[in-house]
Parts: sequence; C-alpha cells; structure tokens
Amino acid sequence: MVNGISILGCTGSIGRQTAAVAEYTGIRVAALTANRQIDRLEEEARRFHPEFVAVFDESAAKQARIALADTDIRVGSGMEGLLEAATLPSVDCVVTAVSGAVGLKPTLAAIEEKKRIALANKETLVCAGEIVMKRAEETGAEIVPVDSEHSAIFQCLMGRQKGELRRILLTCSGGPFRGRKRDTLSDITPAQAVKHPRWNMGAKISVDSATLMNKGLEFIEAMRLFAVSPDEIEVVIHPQSVIHSMVELVDGTVIAQLGVPDMGLPIQLALTYPERLPSMFDRLDFRRLQDLSFEEPDLENFPCLRLAMDCARNGGTAGCVMSAANEEAVHLFLKEKIGFNRIYDLAAEAVEKLADDKADDLDAILEADTAARIYVHETVGV
Ligand code: MG
Repeated sequence: MVNGISILGCTGSIGRQTAAVAEYTGIRVAALTANRQIDRLEEEARRFHPEFVAVFDESAAKQARIALADTDIRVGSGMEGLLEAATLPSVDCVVTAVSGAVGLKPTLAAIEEKKRIALANKETLVCAGEIVMKRAEETGAEIVPVDSEHSAIFQCLMGRQKGELRRILLTCSGGPFRGRKRDTLSDITPAQAVKHPRWNMGAKISVDSATLMNKGLEFIEAMRLFAVSPDEIEVVIHPQSVIHSMVELVDGTVIAQLGVPDMGLPIQLALTYPERLPSMFDRLDFRRLQDLSFEEPDLENFPCLRLAMDCARNGGTAGCVMSAANEEAVHLFLKEKIGFNRIYDLAAEAVEKLADDKADDLDAILEADTAARIYVHETVGV
C-alpha cells in the first residue's frame, strides 16, 4: 500500500473519485494538479492540505495563489508544476488522471523517480507505450492500471507466469449506440453521446465510448501493459459491464474479474495493491443480476475500433496520430463544430496522411501528436 499520493488532474471524474478513495482509506494526498478549475482545486486543497498544488494554465495559477494565500500550500504552474507534482519526494504513487497527451511527460518523470504509477491516462501508453514500459522496467517503477478493463486483466494475471496466458478477452459495453447503423448516427448531439448506459465518466471518454474509440485505445493500452501482440487480444461486447475483462490461459481456463461498474474499485486497488482493504462501494448481488450476454463488436458501423486495431498492427506513430486527431475531433464535436461521424473520418485521414512506421524517440512522438492536432483544425477550418 502507498503512503503519499499525487493526483494529476484532481478536478476530473477519476481525480475526484481518487480523492474520495484516499479519504476513505486514509492515504495521504501530498500533491494535486488541475488544468484551470480553481474553485474545485481550492476545495480539494482545503480538504486534504497537500504540500503542493500545480495549475497547468498560467493565469488560473495566479488565481490559485491568491485563493490559497492564507495557507502554507505551495502553488506551481505549467508543465514545470505538473513535473514537480509528479516527482515530489513525499509521494510514492502518482495517479495520472489528466486527460490527453499532457500526461506523458509527468508520467515519465515519475517513472524516473521509481514512483508507482496508478495509470488512468490511457493516451500515455497509446502514444509512447514502448518508451514508458521500457523505462518502467529499467527503473523498477510499478505501473498499476486504473482503467477498469486493464485492472481486471491485471488481477486475472496475478500470480500467473507469462507463458500461461493464451489471450486477453477485453470486454466492452458497446456504448450508448450499440446495435445502430453508422448512417443513423450523423445527427447525434453531444448530450446524447455523453450519456453512457453503465459508466459515469468525463465528456471526452464518454464520446470515445460512444464511437468505440475508447475500446480501440484500450486495445493498444492492453498490448503495451501486458506485452502481448494484437492477435492475442479479442474484444468481446458485454453490455452489462459486470465482467470487467477476462484472460484465457493456455489450458482453456478462463479467469474473469467481476464487480459493480464503479471506477472507485480499480482506483482503490491501484493504491492499496498488493493489499486489499474494505471499500465503500456497492456489492454485486447475484440474485438480482440479469443475464450476462456477449456478442461480437460491430467494426463496420463503429469503425474507430477497427482503425485502432489497424494502428496497433502498424506500430510507429500511428496510434499516437490517431489518438491526438481523435482527441481534437472529439473536442470539436463537443463544441458542435463537427458531426458525430466526422470524428472517425478525421482520425482515419490523419493516420493515412501523417502516420510514420517508426517512432524512435519521445520527440518524434510529440511531433506526430502536434501534427495530427494541426491537421484536424486545418481540415475543419477552426
Ligand atoms: Mg475502460
């Protein structure tokens, strides 16, 4: 179990749930970061009395300094602030709950300091998974997934030898538009897309769940985390989200992890691992559980998943370009600048035009990321 945590992205959905788990389990919150939501950051800072907070946005950081002037909490800003929050000596676990590629550098910095990474920022592994996992292996930093599916796989593999695994069965709820044809989705509004039937999440990941891009990102995330090939991962649609993923072993045994769909559970395990503590979350009631059903993913009507699988096979910067273009396209969709189906089109075009089959170093990856974002904005004209 960890002693002091740093929550990168404390105002988002995962960040707030992490704070609740820390409070319940008595784990010390030593640092907090936010992008620009000062009210919420101040609230959390007064609740936990961390030694350091960082605000990514410089002008919001000035407000935070004023808001917290009566406390002895230090306030940092920009990427430098995020890096300090990720490497503070009193922190032994960094929860990477920021959304998007901004999580990459702080995650790598924390790995250099051999801190445990409670990984909730999937873009980090999608963009730079090889570099991140390699450095973690070299420094001995533990990476414990917070994503519910990857936490499930991690738990199913506890105590197993690498040679025992035949394949990973990555479950997927299918999102709010499961069963629909792509041509009926063009008029979907942001409000409809963010209303997920099972999980309560932030806007970006909710849209990704609706397009199945989220499962595509998770496909690549699983490849990196568990060092498997694309052929060793199968996506299984399981609308009830009671099974959070499974592994099939070489002898045909399947091990599944089940629980209520609540992100608090994988968050708590990432902080207490290898121990388990009582939690405040609901329990599964098998007497009231409806049927568990399974089906194949519809790659034709939800092409984002297929695109991600192709990018996983191609390697290089493809995953990074796809993820960055998708991130920008989703933000434009949420601002009603583009339609729902255009998200896939933009991501696919960006990969087609920009992806390189080599991703030598972090600079090459960050360049590909920037180029993909520019491509989307120039194409849409905003
Ligand atoms: Mg997930």
